[in-house]
Amino acid sequence: MKITFYGAAGEVGRSCIMVESGSTKILLDAGVKLGEHVELPLMPDSELASLDGIVTSHAHLDHSGYLPHIYTAGYDGYTYTTKPTFELTNVLISDYIRISNPDNVKKEGIAKMAKRHKLVEYHEEFKIKGLKVRLVPAGHILGSAMIELDDGKERLIYTGDVNFRSTRLLDPAYTEHLHASTLITESTYAGDKDEFEGEKRVADSMVASINETLKQGGKAIIPAFAVGRAQETLLLLDDYMRSGLLPKVPIHMDGMIGKAMRIHRHNVIYCRDELQKRILLNDDDPFKSPNFYNVTTRQQRDRIMHGKESCIIVTTSGMITGGPIMKYLEHCGNVPENKLIIVGYQARGTLGRQLLDGAKEIKIENRKVKISMSVEKFHLSAHADRRQLMGFIGRIADLKNVFIVHGEPGKAKEFQDALKHKYNAVTPQLGSDYTV
Ligand SMILES: [Zn+2]
Ligand SMILES: [Zn+2]
Repeated sequence: MKITFYGAAGEVGRSCIMVESGSTKILLDAGVKLGEHVELPLMPDSELASLDGIVTSHAHLDHSGYLPHIYTAGYDGYTYTTKPTFELTNVLISDYIRISNPDNVKKEGIAKMAKRHKLVEYHEEFKIKGLKVRLVPAGHILGSAMIELDDGKERLIYTGDVNFRSTRLLDPAYTEHLHASTLITESTYAGDKDEFEGEKRVADSMVASINETLKQGGKAIIPAFAVGRAQETLLLLDDYMRSGLLPKVPIHMDGMIGKAMRIHRHNVIYCRDELQKRILLNDDDPFKSPNFYNVTTRQQRDRIMHGKESCIIVTTSGMITGGPIMKYLEHCGNVPENKLIIVGYQARGTLGRQLLDGAKEIKIENRKVKISMSVEKFHLSAHADRRQLMGFIGRIADLKNVFIVHGEPGKAKEFQDALKHKYNAVTPQLGSDYTV
């Protein structure tokens, strides 16, 4: 097998990995890198004609956002993925195209992309020419998958983004009967110091912090990825509100979150058992909680921003790279009683990262915006930490090669150091290829 890393090498973003075996050539993920500017994978369009298929691990744009370009540039084949990933990808991509309007994407390309998807079930083996492929649950977001490839000689596992702990929405990643000679693993939180606290403790302290803000009459503003973080955060807030640990204030959802909530509800059989039972047997649907208010018009948003009422706002985008969060920052950021609560990963170069690092003035569309609200971070990540990744890797029989992607260079290097005594651990360079 030959593996070429067109993205996600020494960075979090633009996951795009080509795997060739004999005459078969496929792409694992087709993502973009979001930040101040959008960065595309380094794959030349000339490769597209000889591609036999694309498999996507999940809907986040750093794994799917390059598909409209690929189909615009003439790719005619299929993209294989799970049903929820397909549905969520469509929602995220239409929002991304509407906001950033990239000139490398045409309407026809987006239409073709939607038609050229083949939906596969978890655990169901299928073939792309000479390669056997299987998707198993990755525990990261609804529909997310780890991808297994087998060409009869080599077996490869690609984690995509992975989580080995159960969450309010999902069961942990599937880790039974693992065997592969090569692993391509994410390393978002694989650094020496990345060890997560228990979810309950983090949730308790986040709720205490929100309570403090509400008591002083402020608004708690939570930027979140429309898919995954937003639902986990909303379900958490709803649980605490129902049990009386949070006062009954409105929880506003702004951006694509409402749409993504509907897709979660339709695909509840992909969520964890407890959640399915709650909805299907007890008619208790947390996605439709009366505590949630969907913001659908600009007037509604204006009323929330300028109103005196204490409230909680969960809005996109998760790394503050666009979307309604910009408006909330502009109008509510300079009120010291308000609070910005960060719950997800913030990539370098994003406004989210700047604020987390203590910026007191930011720029939104060339306008200077003063920030006097406090900024706090609570780690509710949907990624595995170092210890979980090590445990997972240790369970893969016959493993020889570990390629470390989807992590900042420092963390990827620390992870490589931790693995190299036992495996051929590699932090690939952007654009480089390896034969295994
Ligand atoms: Zn992801
Ligand atoms: Zn990712």
